[in-house]
Amino acid sequence: MPKVFRVALDTPLRRLFDYLAPEGAGEPAVGARVRVPFGRRRLVGLVMGTAGGSDVPAERLKPILEVLDRVPVLDPAAVALLEWASGYYHHPIGEVAAGALPKALRAGAPSAALQENWSLSREGREALESAAARRAPRQLAVLTLLAGEDSMTADALDERMRGWREAARALLKRGWLDRTEVAQGREPSTAGVRCAGPALLEEQAQAVAKIGAALGGYGAFVLHGITGSGKTEVYLRLVERVLGAGRRVLVLVPEIGLTPQLVGRFRERFDTPLAVLHSGLTDHERLLAWREAFSGHARVVLGTRSAVFAPVPDLGLIVVDEEHDSSFKQHEGALRYSARDLAVVRAHHARVPVVLGSATPSLETLHNVTAGRYTRLRLLRRAAQAQPPVLKLIDLRSSAVRSGMATPVVLAIQRHLTDDGQVLVFLNRRGYAPTLLCTGCGWVAPCGECDARLTVHQDAGRLRCHHCGADAPLPTRCPVCGFEVKAVGQGTERVEEALQALFPAVSIARLDRDVVRKHGDMEAVVRRMSSGEARILVGTQMVTKGHDFPNVTLVVVLNADQGLFSTDFRAPERLAQTIVQVAGRAGRGARAGEVLIQSSFPDHPLLTHLLAQGYDGFAEAALAERAQASWPPFARLAALRDSAKTAEGALTFLTEARQLAVAPPRGVRLLGPVPAAMARRAGRYHAQLLVESPERARLHEFLDGWLPQVEQLKSARAVRWSLDVDPIELF
Ligand SMILES: [Zn+2]
Ligand SMILES: [Zn+2]
Repeated sequence: MPKVFRVALDTPLRRLFDYLAPEGAGEPAVGARVRVPFGRRRLVGLVMGTAGGSDVPAERLKPILEVLDRVPVLDPAAVALLEWASGYYHHPIGEVAAGALPKALRAGAPSAALQENWSLSREGREALESAAARRAPRQLAVLTLLAGEDSMTADALDERMRGWREAARALLKRGWLDRTEVAQGREPSTAGVRCAGPALLEEQAQAVAKIGAALGGYGAFVLHGITGSGKTEVYLRLVERVLGAGRRVLVLVPEIGLTPQLVGRFRERFDTPLAVLHSGLTDHERLLAWREAFSGHARVVLGTRSAVFAPVPDLGLIVVDEEHDSSFKQHEGALRYSARDLAVVRAHHARVPVVLGSATPSLETLHNVTAGRYTRLRLLRRAAQAQPPVLKLIDLRSSAVRSGMATPVVLAIQRHLTDDGQVLVFLNRRGYAPTLLCTGCGWVAPCGECDARLTVHQDAGRLRCHHCGADAPLPTRCPVCGFEVKAVGQGTERVEEALQALFPAVSIARLDRDVVRKHGDMEAVVRRMSSGEARILVGTQMVTKGHDFPNVTLVVVLNADQGLFSTDFRAPERLAQTIVQVAGRAGRGARAGEVLIQSSFPDHPLLTHLLAQGYDGFAEAALAERAQASWPPFARLAALRDSAKTAEGALTFLTEARQLAVAPPRGVRLLGPVPAAMARRAGRYHAQLLVESPERARLHEFLDGWLPQVEQLKSARAVRWSLDVDPIELF
């Protein structure tokens, strides 16, 4: 049998495809891209391995058409990571592999930047003397410029002559110029330290020493440090060591955490190229950043979720900052994965340490510490003598409440403003009000496409759905009875308005997705707070991350009750994390901070645990509850989800899928199917079927046998379905 190359192709089929070596040219290496025939099409694929034979009859095996990479775009650790992800998330390997590369590379673009070279052709040289050339002065100028050189790069031409390209293109058509492309050579980058960091506290130094000692091999470390304890400084010291050893670093941060401030801290400290990858990049920018990483020119690769797949030659360390953040989970699209979990797997394959940092580690991560899989390092002290804030509950039932604010809260804001402090007001709901109500007939403005109410956006004069994006003008009268309508409840926009009425002389800033629409908007708000021009900041989740406002002395959590009674077993964990993260914004300077949490259920055990014993006490109680109820991390879950145009349609596929497993193996339970808590979203009905097992291996063994059958169901074609392994939101 001839040697075959096993190629991953971007198709929904759960397999690799076998091809023969290309005719004539050299063989591709594992991890290289190749162009292959596939039916009537030609596709770009990735060589994932080789074999001594194939199940496909020899006469049907086709040769690879073209090898696109001399240097493979995936190193062996990357190939292993993709194979692992495909197996663990039960997703077709071709789609997993395709998703790991920028769009242009999937289409066959070169993995390195190319330099254009222009030179005069023989005809061009002759034409230079002719009268024909003299009729087009711009073209003549280009010809004359090139006549003096063997060839010139596009960059050099840019420098010498403006607007040369149009003329050059015309000359190329006439055959008077030659154009070639060669891989761009670059000076190798260096990694210098611009300035030494501040002196480390004892705990920081210990963490650096412990993780530093593990460099050169795999190890998973949880850097559990309270807000303000200097986790970033620990990362920076470790990065310094890794760069000093000539290796490179991958840093993953949450979507919202990739602030210019963080990038700035890396740039300030290190004199070395950085590649920054995030979801806001255009396809072209992504390609450029990927190339910077791939070539090794960038020595630090900093990015959000999908950067876990970024190429980092000579990887020495992976850092996952704010590891508990839900934006590390890919909820949509093809492959649904946890970038944090993949980072640990990648570190394992690459034999490097991984650091998971957080002030509020996820319960899964804490469980891994207890089980001895991860090592926890604690930072309990705040840097710069800052004191941890004092948390206090405000009972909404026993205080007068106006515009969502209890009297003691208003008085506290007044006091802190008088004392020259700044105030942060947190409410996880943007817009003016969550409900528009008719005072005559009780009509509530609904979204036509979702089982949800429309949110009032007063400034914009619109009603908007926060689930599907539906958008309509804000009515002044009820469309049913014609009576007056009024906005009920609070959003950040309304809280800002109420605060402005209470404190007319005070400048107030707001931070939410309605304010932050384009690049630079967030920095503008942050600047107003840092300069002290704004004294109060009202905002959503956005205020919890990455910004250091040393003069904030009071933090108000307007509504802690949203997470207390959710159907999702993870809601309390998210609420506790949010409260601790928001509270951490208080008193980061020299002054002690105060945190007021408004609730109508101040006796709820979640809140009392959190206030009495902090996040540790909460986590312990929450883990005990999860163990009792056999929820993750004490069980493993996978959710088979679908959506259809009708409620019945959504349930039919899942019911049939369940029937395929009438007698599931011992230790595997199927729960459902049930309609999603918000069944109708954007005009489609959603439902889910849960698969649960106390053991990971059993769950996956079951999925391996079950999914190929599920895929074959006729009803599968009538719905959009997906499998989510380790789902973090159940709805
Ligand atoms: Zn009405
Ligand atoms: Zn909607």
